[in-house]
This record gives sequence, C-alpha cells and structure tokens, in this order.
Amino acid sequence: MLPFLRSDLAYLNAYTPHPGGGDGSPVQTHAGVIDRLDSNESPFDLPADLKEKLGWQFQHTIESNRYPDGSHVALKEAIAQYVNESAQLDGAAGITAEQISVGNGSDELIRSLLIATCLGGEGSILVATPTFSMYGILAQTLGIPVVSVDRSEETFELDLEAAQSAIADSEDASQEQDIPPIRVVCMVHPNSPTGNALTEAELTWLRSLPDHVLVMIDEAYFEFNQATVVGELHDLPNWVVLRTFSKAFRLASLRVGYAIAHPGLIAALEKVRLPYNLPSFSQMGALTVLHHRQELLESIPQLLEERDRLLDALAGFPELRIWPSAANFIYFRVRSGGDEVLESLFRQMKAQGSLIRHTGGGIRLTVGTLEENQRTLARLETVLANLR
Ligand SMILES: *Cc1c(COP(=O)(O)O)cnc(C)c1O
Repeated sequence: MLPFLRSDLAYLNAYTPHPGGGDGSPVQTHAGVIDRLDSNESPFDLPADLKEKLGWQFQHTIESNRYPDGSHVALKEAIAQYVNESAQLDGAAGITAEQISVGNGSDELIRSLLIATCLGGEGSILVATPTFSMYGILAQTLGIPVVSVDRSEETFELDLEAAQSAIADSEDASQEQDIPPIRVVCMVHPNSPTGNALTEAELTWLRSLPDHVLVMIDEAYFEFNQATVVGELHDLPNWVVLRTFSKAFRLASLRVGYAIAHPGLIAALEKVRLPYNLPSFSQMGALTVLHHRQELLESIPQLLEERDRLLDALAGFPELRIWPSAANFIYFRVRSGGDEVLESLFRQMKAQGSLIRHTGGGIRLTVGTLEENQRTLARLETVLANLR
C-alpha cells in the first residue's frame, strides 16, 4: 500500500454496485440483455415526454458555465410540499424548507450525518443486521466503529433488549471502553433487504431513546408502503428521516436524496456538506419529477401487484422460504444449504440472464416489469431444478 495512505484503508474494499454484475451498463450474455433485479430501482425509465422536457430545460434554462444553486431553495420548497401532502400534514404540523437538507443521493446525507455526529472518536453507530450495507461501509471509511445487533430470524424485528444493552454498555463509564458511545441508531423503514416495516414495539423503543442518541429512519421505500414517521419529527428533535428519488421516482441516475429533521440538525448537515453538492441538472430533474409526481407514482400499484404475483409464484418453490414485503423487492432464503447454495443460485441466475442480490444470508429480488419477472421466475425454476 502507498505509504501516505491511512493504514485502516488496507482493510476496506471499494463498493461494487452490482456484485459480480459488471458496472451497471446492460450486460450481454448469450441470452441477450440481463434483467437487472439487484438494485431496487424502478424498472420504468421516465416517460419520453418528460425526458424531452428535461432535455429542453437543460438546453434553455441551465447555464453550464455557472455553479448550481448551492442552497437548493426551489427544490427544498417543493420537497416540503410533497412531504406534507403525502403525510397529510398541514398548518403548524407541516414541515418547512428549514427542516430539509438535500444530498447527492441519500448516501451523501448518511455520510454527512456520520460526520456531524460521530467523527473524531465521538461516537459509534448501531445497525440491525441484516440491513442496508451503506451505513457500515460509510462508517468504516470515516473510522467510525459499528455495533451490530441481530434481528429475529422469524420476523426480522430488531432484538430490542440486545439493542438497549448495546447502548447502555457503550455508555457505561465503569467499564474499560474500546469504542466511543453509540450516537446514531440506523433503521430502515421498511428494511432492506428483508422488506419488513418498523413495528409498533420498535417505534416505541426508538421514541424512548435519550436525546443524545440520533435516530435515523431511512424511508427510501416510503412510496411503496406509505408508512412514515415524519409526523413525529415535530416532537422528536433527535430523529431524522431520509428519503430518496432513486427508487419510486425513477431517478437513480441523477443521485438526489433528502433528509427531514429539526432545523438544528439540518444546519449541521449544511455545515459539513460540500458547497455545490448537487448539479443543476439533478436539481432540475428532481423538481420535474416532483411536479409530475401524480403521473409517475401511478406506476406503483402496478408494481405492488407484480410483487404480490411474484410472492405467490415464489411460494410454490418448496426449497425457498419467503417473507412478506412492504417494498418493491422480495427477500427469500433457501431452506437448506445456506450461503454456498445461495452463491451458486446467484451465479447460475446471472448466467441465465437475471441479476439478483445475494445479501444478509438470503436473496433480495427487485420487482421488475411483468416480462422481467416472468423470465426470472422461469430461470429460477431451472436453476432450482439444477441444484436439487
Ligand atoms: C436505495 C437506498 C437508498 C438510496 O440511496 P441513494 O443514495 O439516494 O440512491 C438509501 N437507503 C436505502 C435503505 C436504500 O435501499
């Protein structure tokens, strides 16, 4: 390793967006184009007229030689309006632009939150595995320790007692500590890869956490289940909600996410981010999809129907154990054989033309178009027969 590099980087690997699946460009096999059901994106590109409109706006309203609006004024206003509308918050209960920070994907906001809370040995984070891998990855790149607590193998609910003791132990001054106290609890609602939404018991526990612990609720899949905690932010200054345009809004290519929280936390996020973190075109893209949200989100009931059909079909494979899903993906495990069988299943599916994600001791399958799902089910049938 180059001698000027931080020594702990030797233990980290660069993030592979499509593990085993290339760089994300359409992968060719003898079977043709691969069905990419491994990243939970929408299978639908933007409608052609919207793309044309974006092209027109790029040509006529963006000055390429000028820096973007570094304060994201218009976008924050539009996001606040959407958040309030979708959570039926109005008047004093509503969210304002002061409570919103916009990032280059919600990944950037996760990193900013970690920088603003834990950096420099001030804290560690708690994650509930299996969960979104980015929390752990970003924490490691910042030298922030990660405490991991298991979920129930049956329901994937967080083990609340274990989580409570992990926090208490991390704060126990009488013990020799090798890590700093837990400052952030990371929860996904509904969780990826397991598809379960937070239960009332989990929410009650999260509400009970002391105000020196930040509760991060990642609602990347909000549009698929409409369950949100934004209505509670008013009373909980130590909570932050993360959302993204990468999933239901079909805008993964432009990298836009947002955080909703107490203005004090938002001010801290604004301090630690890069000045021009979001390109003009991305801001324009996000504004445009928000403006056309009704039309774009009309694809959701269709995707949920597809999800339920996939769930029914998968339930017909006796070697699989399937869990319900509150999002646009399905999680399953094999009843025998574990990770070795899963790895083989993943590889054979890829060779047949379907990219799926092998993660957290199972497979996460994104709901695609009708055709993608049908092809993938047929391939799965073949592959499972091979494995028998
Ligand atoms: C996809 C996803 C995100 C989105 O990240 P972006 O950086 O906005 O694309 C965030 N959190 C979870 C849990 C996700 O699955």
